[in-house]
Amino acid sequence: MAKDPVCGMEVDENTSVKSLFGGKAVYFCCPHCKARFDKDPMKFKL
Ligand SMILES: [Zn+2]
Repeated sequence: MAKDPVCGMEVDENTSVKSLFGGKAVYFCCPHCKARFDKDPMKFKL
């Protein structure tokens, strides 16, 4: 399991939405959280 840095939810790496940041994969519960992260990645703690 991975943690969605936007909402704090536990997400499954296999089914979640993914984004790459600093060469690292970041996982999200939904496209909405991914969009929020992509807009301002420095705002969220990984
Ligand atoms: Zn989320």
